[in-house]
Amino acid sequence: MNRFIPAALAALMPFAAVAEEAESSFVEANILGIFYHELAHALIDLEQVPIFGQEEDAADVFSILMIHTLFEEEAAQALAYDAAWGFIGEAEMREGGVEEIAWWDTHGPDEQRFYNTVCLFYGANPDAREEFAKEFDLPQERAEYCPMEYEQADASWGVLLDELTARGAGQTITFEGDTDSLTAQVIAEEVKALNNELSLSTQLTVREESCGEANAFYDPEAREVVFCSEFEDHLRQMEAQL
Ligand SMILES: [Zn+2]
Repeated sequence: MNRFIPAALAALMPFAAVAEEAESSFVEANILGIFYHELAHALIDLEQVPIFGQEEDAADVFSILMIHTLFEEEAAQALAYDAAWGFIGEAEMREGGVEEIAWWDTHGPDEQRFYNTVCLFYGANPDAREEFAKEFDLPQERAEYCPMEYEQADASWGVLLDELTARGAGQTITFEGDTDSLTAQVIAEEVKALNNELSLSTQLTVREESCGEANAFYDPEAREVVFCSEFEDHLRQMEAQL
């Protein structure tokens, strides 16, 4: 995974470029975290990754693994911090609307996705992230196992990432944006950074467009990740409530 270090610098640049506006760093971090989550769905399909368990959990794991792997410590912590808060925000927005937890959903409850995120990120570098775990009240009972959870994640997704980077740079991910929103900027830069580091076995399109709802998803028929432009406003509202 050391091959990813140059990408860390490349990937860091778009983040740093817009991170100056403190109020947008939460929104930006969550756009990136969700983009990695959707990219995982795309990889599972395009690279025929076997998944033992819930695909949604595997996608969350991939997202936090990317944040840990691509970014230097300070930036990674800032991103993981905001991504973890993103799950709290989703839970709070749900409670505000008095919506019940959708136990039937393929996604785990937001509260659990929050703890999984905190645990995995802490487990990836426990020495440097004790404060991080403390801040989010990660219980000791779970914290003990987090380094092992991270090792397992790295041993599974890491193999695929090594394979993709071994293929070298390419233009296998294409970005098509409808606006010049923060979403479009963040994703366009990230797609560029990923193309500089790796190649997929099949062409993938990442599209930013209005879809009438705050959503992001992978469409296996079209081989497209769709990031709805409405998501950005949803994240801004969430930030205002936190
Ligand atoms: Zn998903």
